[in-house]
Amino acid sequence: MNKTGIGYLNYSWNPVTGCSPVSAGCLNCWAKKRATENAATGSKWYDPKDPFKPTLHRDRLDESSHRKTPSVIGVGFMGDICHPDLPEDALACVLQSCRIANQHTYLWLTKRADRLGEALLGVDPVPNVWLGVSVENMAGAIERLPILAQLAERGWHTWVSMEPLIGSVTLAPSPHHNWDLVEWVIVGCESGDDRRPMDPAWVTQLHGECDHFGIPFFLKQMEVEGKVQAHPTPYLNGVQHTEIPYAIQERLEQGSSPRPAE
Ligand code: SF4
Repeated sequence: MNKTGIGYLNYSWNPVTGCSPVSAGCLNCWAKKRATENAATGSKWYDPKDPFKPTLHRDRLDESSHRKTPSVIGVGFMGDICHPDLPEDALACVLQSCRIANQHTYLWLTKRADRLGEALLGVDPVPNVWLGVSVENMAGAIERLPILAQLAERGWHTWVSMEPLIGSVTLAPSPHHNWDLVEWVIVGCESGDDRRPMDPAWVTQLHGECDHFGIPFFLKQMEVEGKVQAHPTPYLNGVQHTEIPYAIQERLEQGSSPRPAE
C-alpha cells in the first residue's frame, strides 16, 4: 500500500493490477505506463514480460488491514477490479478484505460497470466501500451511470470519476433513477504530452447539474495557460470546487494526521 499525491486519498492499494482498453478514455492509459515503469524497476508485482496483465495478488489482500489508523484508500487504480480476465473470485476476495478492515473507507473504481452491477446488485451494501465508475464522455455516461444509480438505490455508497473528461457529459442520462443518491463527482482533464482537451464549458455544465442534485463536486485538475494545474486545484469561473462528502473528509483527516508508527 502506498501513500498517494491524489488529494482525496490517503493511500492507494492494488490487490489487483492490469487491464486492457475498453473505451476512448483508455487511449493514454496512465496505469499501463506506470506498470511498465514498475516492471522495469524490478517490482515483483509486475511481470516484465507482460506488466499490465490482469492479475489478482492474493498476497496483497490483507495489506490494508495492517494499517490501523482509519484512512481513505483507493482500490485497484493500477488496473480494473472488474476485468473479465481476473479469477472469478477476485472481486469477492477484495470485498471481503474491505469488510474486515472496516476502519478504512475504500474507493473502488471501474469502467466495467456492467460487471460491477452483476456482482453487487444482489449483495448487501458494505458501508465502508464506495463504488465508483469512470466516465469520460457521453457514451460512457449512458453505459455506466444508470448501473451506478441502481447500486445507489440499493444503498451502496457511490461516486463518479470523470477523469480524463474528453467530451460533454450529462450526469443523468436516464430520467428513471434517483440521481441525487449518487454521492460524489470528481472531474479532471487528461494529463501528459498527448492529452486531449477538456472544455471548461463541459465542466461548468456538470457543476450546475451536481448543484441541482445536491452532489458534492470536486474539480481535481484542468489545463490553465497550457499546463495541467492540480495543486492548488484550478479555478472554474473564479471558484475552486473541492467539495468532499463529509464521511470521506472526516476519514481523510484521520488518515493524514500524524500518528505513532504502526
Ligand atoms: S479501464 Fe482504466 S486501467 Fe483499464 S485500460 Fe482503461 S484507463 Fe487503463
